[in-house]
Amino acid sequence: MCGYASEGAPATEEDLMVQFRSATKDLSSEDRVAKIYTSGSFLDPAEVPEPVNSQILDGLAAAGVEKLVIESRPEYVTGERVEASVARIRTEVAMGLETSSDLVRDHSICKGFSFEEFKAAAKTVHLGGGSVKTYLLLKPPFLSEGVAISDALRSARDAAPHSDVLSLNLSNIQRGTLQERMWMQGDYRPPWLWSAVEVLKNVTFMPIICDPVAAGTRRGPHNCGRCDEAVAKAIREHALSQDVGVFEELDCGCRAAWEKVVELEDYSFGAPLF
Ligand SMILES: [Zn+2]
Repeated sequence: MCGYASEGAPATEEDLMVQFRSATKDLSSEDRVAKIYTSGSFLDPAEVPEPVNSQILDGLAAAGVEKLVIESRPEYVTGERVEASVARIRTEVAMGLETSSDLVRDHSICKGFSFEEFKAAAKTVHLGGGSVKTYLLLKPPFLSEGVAISDALRSARDAAPHSDVLSLNLSNIQRGTLQERMWMQGDYRPPWLWSAVEVLKNVTFMPIICDPVAAGTRRGPHNCGRCDEAVAKAIREHALSQDVGVFEELDCGCRAAWEKVVELEDYSFGAPLF
């Protein structure tokens, strides 16, 4: 289901530094937060070798960046690597837990690590003085719409004690994946935006953000086509304000259809409605 496999390319240390210099050449004193999304693990020494890692951290600290967000799988999170980063800049380590269910993570996502391993890595980050952003995935393949909602809600509750912020990612169809084949055969539909709203409305016990990438497209999370823009806009507003009131005014004829999908999909073998 993940598109990175077809996008990845080997990068030398020099390639990484060229990219870093190009991305930071216009850095101004206004830029207080830097996010380094490697589409992989910043803390993996095979992906970002030690001298590069240090040069990037030193470069950002020298530029006055106050907070750094990096991504890593749990197995690369060590006290030493976290402390090396925290010593230069306040650091948030984002980890793709996706779900707190080992069953769903193993079989729907094939992620290859357990909830226990995530918890241990989160503890290491916190002990090292960093903060944790936890990604949750709404609707991996093989989950019905209703099960996907309850999986995300349960995961949010389970991940909360180990996280400082949650980020809800809405599943979308990447090329050349099993999920794409299932989608083409009518066996999978990306999540409804109403489902994302349902999760965001019910996670009021801690910060949760969501960027509905590709919202309103057939391959991305979508509703009926008429309300997608308004719902996606409300989701983006909520990410900034954390105010669930932004969802109150939203309505559309398709909401009733979505409610039926959530209620009945587990009992049917029918094709998705839209
Ligand atoms: Zn609609």
